[in-house]
Amino acid sequence: MPETRLNVAVIGAGLAGLSCGRHLQNAGCRITVFEKARGPGGRMSTRRADGWQCDHGAQYFTVRDSAFREEVARWEAAGVAAPWEPKLAVIGGGKAEPDSVVRFVGVPRMSAPAAWLAGGLAVHSGVTIDDMRHEAEGWRLRSKELGLHAERYDAVVLAVPAPQAAVLLEPLLPLTAMQSNAVAMLPSWTLMLRFAQPYKPGYDAAFINDGPLRWIARDSSKPGRAGSEVWVLQASAEWSAAHIEDDETLVKVLLLDAFAKLGGPAPEGVTAHRWRYAKAGAASSRQAVWLPAVQVGLCGDWLGGGRVEDAWLSGLALAAKVLARTPCLP
Ligand SMILES: Cc1cc2nc3c(=O)[nH]c(=O)nc-3n(C[C@H](O)[C@H](O)[C@H](O)COP(=O)(O)OP(=O)(O)OC[C@H]3O[C@@H](n4cnc5c(N)ncnc54)[C@H](O)[C@@H]3O)c2cc1C
Repeated sequence: MPETRLNVAVIGAGLAGLSCGRHLQNAGCRITVFEKARGPGGRMSTRRADGWQCDHGAQYFTVRDSAFREEVARWEAAGVAAPWEPKLAVIGGGKAEPDSVVRFVGVPRMSAPAAWLAGGLAVHSGVTIDDMRHEAEGWRLRSKELGLHAERYDAVVLAVPAPQAAVLLEPLLPLTAMQSNAVAMLPSWTLMLRFAQPYKPGYDAAFINDGPLRWIARDSSKPGRAGSEVWVLQASAEWSAAHIEDDETLVKVLLLDAFAKLGGPAPEGVTAHRWRYAKAGAASSRQAVWLPAVQVGLCGDWLGGGRVEDAWLSGLALAAKVLARTPCLP
């Protein structure tokens, strides 16, 4: 018997793609996710190496929406998320966020909720989709690693940052590509520092309102963390944009200098990460885009408000739009 379920390809295994994929799969769709990195998580990610780990993308997430609250409760029950109660400081003027803000993190690392969501899906990691084309039997994808894929899909979900969606859409849907390209995504230079001894300056994390740094945090203070003492430093979007093409050796020198001025000790080891598309500059007014005529959808934090919660909600919103127009099961 021929397959009668709606066959959907999801490009991107960040929280938006995983949320959309899980909701569509629960409704009966056949889902295949393609992810260019080695594993799922996207910007909700953790760098791991010999004896240390560090959340170098999203630092924590907050919960406002009731559907996301229920999802986070499922993550907590599964042991992949927990509240983090850092002692916060504000350096360089301004006030600390009110203590009533509940901050969650993935446990034992930020990528854990994504890995948990991906567990129930067919996710192909290490596959970079670089072209999509429509043929009589449906959508076909091409990847850098595997060339033109044989499988045909009824629908394609693009769950990647706006500029990356624009590249894939440009030859097919130039207007949608142009709209995606209009969403500015701000960069972030990030350093991960390892220390032989715990460094406890009297706070676990600080918002910085002066100089190149905007956020520093003791990653080791998050629940369930093991391994070396680790701190993360994130530069401001403005500073990162001005230094985006700089050599990482220079970036390390400049950001370590800023950390030293805050009283930070010299680390034993430093790793840098350049996020070209860290956060959406201004959120779009639409939570998700579904083009029923061509069966192509877009979701991601850039269509919501630029945070983890927005990414998950955008995936949910896209799944609802797809199902409203095209039931998964005949
Ligand atoms: C430095 C930094 C700090 C942050 N801090 C916070 C914070 O404290 N709190 C908060 O709520 N949010 C924070 N965020 C934002 C948060 O991480 C994002 O909102 C959220 O993770 C975005 O999820 P997403 O699924 O929309 O996109 P992504 O996580 O970017 O997922 C997109 C996925 O698509 C993959 N991909 C891209 N192109 C292709 C392709 N051609 N083929 C296959 N796969 C592809 C990527 O590898 C990626 O895995 C931060 C982000 C950064 C970078």
